[in-house]
Amino acid sequence: MIAKTSQKELNTLLKIHFGYDSFLPNQLAVINDVLAKNDVLTIMPTGGGKSICFQLPALAMPGTTVVISPLIALMKDQVDALRANGIPAAYYNSSQAPEVQETIFEELKAGALKLFYVAPESLATFDTLFQDLPINLFAIDEAHCISSWGHDFRPAYTQLGSLKTRFPQVPVMALTATADRTTQDDIVAQLAIPNAQKHLASFDRPNLYLEVRPAQNRIQQIIDFIESRTDESGIIYCLSRKSTEKIADRLVALGFEAKAYHAGMPAASRSKTQEDFINDRTPIIVATIAFGMGIDKSNVRWVIHYNLPKNIEGYYQEIGRGGRDGLPANALLFYSFADVAQLRRFISQSDNAEVEYAKLERMQQFAEALSCRRIALLNYFGEHVVDNCRQCDMCTQPPMYFDATLLTQKICSAVARLNEKEAMGTVVDVLRGAQNAQIFEKGLQHIKTYGAVKDISWLDLQQYVIQLLNQGVLRINFKENAQLELTPLAKQVLFENRAVQLAVLQKVDSTTKKKAKKSTEKTGLFEKLRLLRQQLAKEEGVPAYVIFGDVSLKDMEAKLPTNESEFLEVSGVGQAKLEKYAVPFLEAIAEHKVSVKPKTTTHEQSYQLFLDGLTVTEIAVARGLKEDTIYAHLQKMHANGEQINLSQFVSETEVEQVRVARTHVPKAEGLKPYFEFLEAKLPYWKIRMALYFLDEATS
Ligand code: ADP
Ligand code: ZN
Repeated sequence: MIAKTSQKELNTLLKIHFGYDSFLPNQLAVINDVLAKNDVLTIMPTGGGKSICFQLPALAMPGTTVVISPLIALMKDQVDALRANGIPAAYYNSSQAPEVQETIFEELKAGALKLFYVAPESLATFDTLFQDLPINLFAIDEAHCISSWGHDFRPAYTQLGSLKTRFPQVPVMALTATADRTTQDDIVAQLAIPNAQKHLASFDRPNLYLEVRPAQNRIQQIIDFIESRTDESGIIYCLSRKSTEKIADRLVALGFEAKAYHAGMPAASRSKTQEDFINDRTPIIVATIAFGMGIDKSNVRWVIHYNLPKNIEGYYQEIGRGGRDGLPANALLFYSFADVAQLRRFISQSDNAEVEYAKLERMQQFAEALSCRRIALLNYFGEHVVDNCRQCDMCTQPPMYFDATLLTQKICSAVARLNEKEAMGTVVDVLRGAQNAQIFEKGLQHIKTYGAVKDISWLDLQQYVIQLLNQGVLRINFKENAQLELTPLAKQVLFENRAVQLAVLQKVDSTTKKKAKKSTEKTGLFEKLRLLRQQLAKEEGVPAYVIFGDVSLKDMEAKLPTNESEFLEVSGVGQAKLEKYAVPFLEAIAEHKVSVKPKTTTHEQSYQLFLDGLTVTEIAVARGLKEDTIYAHLQKMHANGEQINLSQFVSETEVEQVRVARTHVPKAEGLKPYFEFLEAKLPYWKIRMALYFLDEATS
């Protein structure tokens, strides 16, 4: 007999233990399936909220939930987070000290653990013990590791197939963030859960702003990008170890806190770097793609690809490390043909070259897209969306087109005259009439189109050539030194006057910078709460986000709770965190409120006294300022829209005198000429105010 847990009870559990007010999409459906003892397959993108899918049922049911997870770091983080929420949980792995392992065995036997995390390699150790325990669920995280189709196959996962035969009564939940259809079928087959209920969440990560830029002057672009985001965590991915170090050095030299990370570093400094990143001590990591696997850091605010990833799966996984807390995050990709050429060289040595070339081409198409990037991305994963997302560069700054028929003819003609034997760079050089050694050695200055396009910069011209590649007017022959060749379309352009439209190049302007400023705008409280969080995390020896995620801190900043019941309203505050952290955080919030007295400007202060009934002379005395200044303050407040009757200070006759004076004195010379013209009969402040009236009347 299974006691049915009502939705209301589930909501209460969610609030008390995790501090959330509602479920994310699919969570409730998955949970209800488990409670009904169904097997489930849950596919959710990173950050979609998979953990709650098994953590909540674990609390709603008697017994222990066993979570199988491949990465020790991930297990540790999840257990830390659960304990911070007051939920008894532990993890086991072969590297723990025997005493620690012994304690865990005891706790398990005593039924003291709601959640027990174990690596698949260690599962056999528990074969007999599990038989005697009230296990209520096997949750298999990163379930794609079971499939040799998946991209992270782990042999130990294949043993999991026997769980269903050994524990037929216990529901099995497979969770993953990879969507590939073949892998899904393989997971279900290998785990022997043919009747698993499938829950496929959308792969969209609407909080990620997607942007692709030409890889010109990348370092400078990166510096501009992070300048306004110095407090935010971010990752810069590079293809080579050398470039990770080079870029990190550049950034450090400029005063940014950045560190390199790659597989060639000693293990100790690798894990130190990772720890520093997780704990907000080093905000910027410049890494090869080895970095980020198994990192659960929720407040990564931006991910930059310095180089083109070799396929969309990789790109998506890497940008997925940004914005896991649901707050806005940026994904910025730099696209260059040099990268394409280099990746193609790598691929040529691979056994699976054909597939990899095809995947790289899809990646290129994404980078070159001139319409919504999100649509392109989701369609790749088989999610057919048609609406523009308004959260990518193509949606926010859609390209404009111009008639580029003549330009295209010139470019194609150059390619033809070079006998389709030269690479893009040389073609651009020829068109621009470059005077370099290579040109002269080959005698290319004698070609008829030499110097035909001098008015377009080298980089811009290169971008137009790339657009022509995308449109299928030109093609690159990678097998022949990446030489540019004409397609049948090019011949139509050359000989049949076929029209060509090209996108106007977008200057990398300050749009994104402005955006960024907005996201880092702070009242100062967030910063204070962040420091408090960091300090508490240090004391407890847990990652900062285990205390509170950025979402919770932002919510505190918005709600400014003053007591415990208001604190409980904050997202991410459940019973345990209320008891543990209400005091320090409420104190910090209260202190902050006192410290930021509403700022009043000097003219506001004068105006306040004026409203209090003081005369201008009295205000001047009270504030130790000149009367002249007080009049200027009042005038300023009037200009700000305050209802002050200024005509009590200056008569119509005086205004008229100033009007006449204005026709005689030179403009833009200040007030002195007026003063002299009017023979010092009007004080400066009256002149200023009269001019203000006159300007007001004409505006
Ligand atoms: P995944 O494992 O799918 O990548 P997580 O389980 O780590 O995702 O959850 C992602 C983020 O969403 C975490 O910061 C988590 O605290 C938050 N989260 C999960 N469920 C909810 C919910 N119901 N309401 C608000 N935030 C949630
Ligand atoms: Zn879009």
